[in-house]
Amino acid sequence: MKATFTFIAPLNDFLPRQYKSTPFSLEFAPHQSLKHLIESLGVPHTDFGQVLVNGQEVDASNRLREGDQVTIYPANSHMEGEARFVLDNHLGQLATYLRMLGFDCLYRNDYQDDELARVATQEERVLLTRDRRLLMRKVIRLGYCIHQTDPRQQAVEVLKRFGLQGQVRPFQRCLRCNSPLQVVNKEDILERLEPLTKIYYEEFHICPNCSQIYWKGSHYGHMLEMIESMAAQA
Ligand SMILES: [Zn+2]
Repeated sequence: MKATFTFIAPLNDFLPRQYKSTPFSLEFAPHQSLKHLIESLGVPHTDFGQVLVNGQEVDASNRLREGDQVTIYPANSHMEGEARFVLDNHLGQLATYLRMLGFDCLYRNDYQDDELARVATQEERVLLTRDRRLLMRKVIRLGYCIHQTDPRQQAVEVLKRFGLQGQVRPFQRCLRCNSPLQVVNKEDILERLEPLTKIYYEEFHICPNCSQIYWKGSHYGHMLEMIESMAAQA
């Protein structure tokens, strides 16, 4: 049995070369669900959205019939409520950028795949990874396969994919450990400040979890520029 498949960009990135950006015919067995067929072509279930068969929207658990015309669209649902993520080991720089933008991002460089899947499921976090096999695990409900390789472009990609442009809250979160920052009195941290910092700055924030101190020093302008440029591209 055969059906014709058309994948809408950016899903073409997942497909083997001969199937990219062109409708193609695929043989299937009667017991295979659409979801199974689509994932067997390399597209994780987290990353596709609407599926049309002969122009009608269908559930991905459906099966196909001979000669069906299938069109698969990328998932484009925007986040309702607070966006919360867990990132795989290779996305450390992206985690820092997303925290800088104010988003809740769990990241450790030693998370194992099973642990990532468990945290994503139990805490209802969106799993961000470049490993599409990880996203094909059944338990993963919310996830997204990062296409870009440059971390800044990855951050833009996440903002766009989840419609987060309006939720950017810079400098609210610890870049090291993800905790929300608190205002702290200068007198309370005076002994931890460098001499020039003591002189030039009055406003400080502290991470209640790891005690890292933040202030709007020379790095601040640079970071703000970067945030504005990322938000503008999204
Ligand atoms: Zn911290």
